[in-house]
Amino acid sequence: DRDVRVPIRGPEEVRQLAVTLNDLSAELKKQEDWRHHLMEDLTHELRTPMTSMLSQLEAMIDGIYEVDIQWLQQIYDELIRLSRLMTDMEKLSEAEAARFTVHIKRVNMINLAEQVYRNFLPMAKSKDIKLRFMNPNVPCYAEVDRDKMVQVVSNIVSNAVKYTNPGGMITLGVDWRPETTIIYCHDTGIGIGPQDLPYVFNRLYRADKSRSRFSGGVGLGLSIAKALAEAHDGTIELESEVGIGSHFRITVPNVYKS
Ligand code: ADP
Repeated sequence: DRDVRVPIRGPEEVRQLAVTLNDLSAELKKQEDWRHHLMEDLTHELRTPMTSMLSQLEAMIDGIYEVDIQWLQQIYDELIRLSRLMTDMEKLSEAEAARFTVHIKRVNMINLAEQVYRNFLPMAKSKDIKLRFMNPNVPCYAEVDRDKMVQVVSNIVSNAVKYTNPGGMITLGVDWRPETTIIYCHDTGIGIGPQDLPYVFNRLYRADKSRSRFSGGVGLGLSIAKALAEAHDGTIELESEVGIGSHFRITVPNVYKS
């Protein structure tokens, strides 16, 4: 039987141990709270559509209502939305674990942003939105997880396309600073009011639930983007005005500190 006890050599070490243990239990409590709130949010998000789908199906099975293809289509659409919710929930939980699992490389940030720009050109065009890319024409390199940063920028640009009306314009660009790289996305879209602005990065938050439901959003895109940016010690800033548009700024340090 090997003795695995850690020797303690005086009151200072006992104090240090107590501090470490307290920090650990505070961190565990935070994770516990996070899980609890996640369960609450999910249950809330699932209950209403489940109840209504069940009662509609029961009424059809019992012959109270005739089988109606339009209703089936509605139930089908709702199930598609819920399955998207599940996929995004998984992505969010991966994103929040990402601070432990980033694969860091030195990445050309102009290439990265330009790739996202090209990916979204067809979608913007089909909505008659002008999508531009601003190349700073100076080398912009940062130590990041490429795939995860592509996801961050894609989520922001995808929203810009989703929440900008035909005829609008989106500008995606890169700015280099000695310590940080900034990727910005400006749109002339519908904007976000001051009553929603503080909450849009919260999971499952949608500024206009009816509109977002129609556009197929589940309210997780920005929380995923934020968690991934934070896994790089980065930030996402937002300024927006209703009817004018939104400015998103993603900032990541050029040197990754694990
Ligand atoms: P969703 O799936 O609803 O798009 P997000 O987390 O990506 O969820 O965004 C949260 C909410 O923030 C959206 O429902 C929308 O109301 C608002 N929002 C996000 N990006 C924009 C934008 N570029 N313009 C206007 N509103 C936006």
